[in-house]
Amino acid sequence: MSKARWAVAPLLGLLLMAVVGCGLLLRSPLPGFNPPAVTSVHLTLGNPSGASRTPTNYLIGKPQYALSYNNQTHTPNWVSWQLNASWLGNVPRRNDFRPDETLPSGWYRVTPSDYNGSGFDRGHMTPSADRSSTVENNSATFLMTNILPQAPDNNQGPWAELENYCRDLVRQGKELYLVAGGYGSKRTIALRRTDSPNDRIVAPANVWKVAVVLDQPGQGLQGIGDRTRVIAVNMPNNQGIRETDWRTFRVSVDSIEAATGYDLLSSLPAAIQDQLERRVDQQ
Ligand code: MN
Ligand code: MN
Repeated sequence: MSKARWAVAPLLGLLLMAVVGCGLLLRSPLPGFNPPAVTSVHLTLGNPSGASRTPTNYLIGKPQYALSYNNQTHTPNWVSWQLNASWLGNVPRRNDFRPDETLPSGWYRVTPSDYNGSGFDRGHMTPSADRSSTVENNSATFLMTNILPQAPDNNQGPWAELENYCRDLVRQGKELYLVAGGYGSKRTIALRRTDSPNDRIVAPANVWKVAVVLDQPGQGLQGIGDRTRVIAVNMPNNQGIRETDWRTFRVSVDSIEAATGYDLLSSLPAAIQDQLERRVDQQ
């Protein structure tokens, strides 16, 4: 080997150390700066509220869904999840409602019994039946951070019917990206184990859901165009609607954005959002 080549080797070594060093620097967060640590297939359509580390807009990613948690209302602001055939199986409903111990230390962890006697159902955002592939996936839907207080006639009526309809679409070969949440305050529920009696669970006045329906699984954002079906609903969190067809609650995504202040479908190009968000599903 020539002398010139031997001289290059240590330089290459230095260059390599510099590249690795820069990589490590970029990975370590700056003091006082918490980069959003959650990247998730369930956030394919975006992070509607720009959730990160704020107590009222706290981003949580789980293998089964992603959500923004609100430590003032003690509910999720929204929960977002992918639904395709790979999530569906034969695991029976686990019913193991329990506190979410992954919340930051010092935060109240809502327990299943906090809802007892409130008149509200423990309403799933990501439905139990959307996660029937494994015991672990089904069990994750019973964490109380995936739960909102829902009026029984809402939860067991049109809300459940829309959930069933979405799974029917999956059985026809579709893939869905869903986001659901509540807004407003219908009533508040006292917490059972809190030291601060002013802390309550806020039962929302309305619950809403947006489902983007892709013709085939596995396409991600590439599978979404200006003709993609989007189903958006906004339902009052009320008794007396059990027999009402879910279709009567269809609205535009724009109207949900106006009511919540969120930017839904924010991963899509603005022109496509404009098209999809002003339509009301008619199918
Ligand atoms: Mn439900
Ligand atoms: Mn939008």
